[in-house]
Amino acid sequence: MDAKLLIHNTLTRKKEVFKPLQENRVGMYVCGPTVYGEPHLGHARPAITFDVLFRYLTHLGYKVRYVRNITDVGHLVNDADSGEDKIAQKAKLDNLEPMEVVQYYLNSYHKAMESLNVLPPSIEPHASGHIIEQIKLVQDILDKGFAYESEGSVYFDVLKYNKQHNYGVLSGRNIEDMLSTTRELDGQDEKRNPVDFALWKKASPEHIMRWNSPWSDGFPGWHLECTAMSKKYLGEEFDIHGGGMDLIFPHHECEIAQSVASTGHEGVRYWMHNNMVTVNGQKMGKSLGNFINLAQFFEGTHELLTQSYSPMTIRFFILQAHYRSTVDFSNEALQASEKGLSRLLETCNRLNTLKPSGIAGSNPQSPADIQSLFAKCEEAMNDDLNTPIVIANLFEAARIINSAVAGTESLSEEDIKSLKDLFNTYLFDVLGIKNESKADNASAVAFGKAIDLLLNLRMQAKQNKDWATSDKIRNELTALGFEIKDTKDGFEWKI
Ligand code: ZN
Repeated sequence: MDAKLLIHNTLTRKKEVFKPLQENRVGMYVCGPTVYGEPHLGHARPAITFDVLFRYLTHLGYKVRYVRNITDVGHLVNDADSGEDKIAQKAKLDNLEPMEVVQYYLNSYHKAMESLNVLPPSIEPHASGHIIEQIKLVQDILDKGFAYESEGSVYFDVLKYNKQHNYGVLSGRNIEDMLSTTRELDGQDEKRNPVDFALWKKASPEHIMRWNSPWSDGFPGWHLECTAMSKKYLGEEFDIHGGGMDLIFPHHECEIAQSVASTGHEGVRYWMHNNMVTVNGQKMGKSLGNFINLAQFFEGTHELLTQSYSPMTIRFFILQAHYRSTVDFSNEALQASEKGLSRLLETCNRLNTLKPSGIAGSNPQSPADIQSLFAKCEEAMNDDLNTPIVIANLFEAARIINSAVAGTESLSEEDIKSLKDLFNTYLFDVLGIKNESKADNASAVAFGKAIDLLLNLRMQAKQNKDWATSDKIRNELTALGFEIKDTKDGFEWKI
């Protein structure tokens, strides 16, 4: 924990040395999905970014409480204060219960995250399971005078708040600009000002998801859940709050306002945001036809894809860019990642059979190189999670291994051990890559053993003069494409 981890704080717009509130514990909150559709690239990127942060903090020795919420109520279409609830709308379309929609897509989300080797968070709270906490928060903000009731709904009074605090502190937006660009939307006349946002909405008669409150039968505003649930599980003040850049405004700006209004101070020490994903240089959008979901990537079933891409290729590709840069998905770029990753994994597997070719320290160059690779990987991770540099150093390690295989560089037993350690630590534990090719190797080994077993049975049959069985095994394997040769000591086979 002596390592100086630098984190880029969106709030201060600079890299800061990470210092948690408690010596060896970290509280981390990341906005999870609104579960009303199949998980796509826009879900994969924050999940993978903060999974790597979770893994790295754990690797540094911190006990991390990682909370990632599930939005299952209150997120209205257009991310605004009017219109239908996204989940209720989907439920109506498919003639399902809203919670049926939630469960269905939550299962899909979990399945996709598991394929991507994203570790489950410590707590995964649902907004609908925390209505009491949200009502209490609305009451707190009302009591402090930063909200008002109107026709059974409760709105946050942005102008009043901005007189004492800074609304726009995170996004850098200026209230005058917001006022001049915000149009009045339908049904917003109950607000004092168009920039105000809903804390509680009175439900219209046809609205399905509704709860009793002091103000009306209704439902919480979208931004409320994260403030209420982070406070419940991580306290009034906690270390890291993350999410995609698209959440900076209004979602996270409103979270800050709610938290400052209710407690008098900001709750988050470090705000972190991952950049967006584009497809062939374009923003993803349902209307653009480039909205590719994760299952379509894994199966290669979208018309823009020329092949399928494994979950590890997607993960590796995302980590080849720094989390604050955009990532552009294209077949060419993904194919390059696929090749790069399989080269890295194949080389890593070679370490298992590589024989030491020198005495420890006998090669003046290589031991120093390997130790410096460790240092460089650590340095890169400490520099605001610079995963592309970590990957570049792992490729350098692969180059050393390949030179040793080719006999142009010698590696001692200790070097080989260090290299294994390097891959285990950075590629597998920190970057969270699964060794898919190792699984392939394992099945190839099992397959070979099964063929040996059959041919041994054939030899026994021959010894017992059971020609029928011996011929049957030989003929059927030959028909399957095997070439079998009897030798002095037994047999040889190939496909
Ligand atoms: Zn949130």
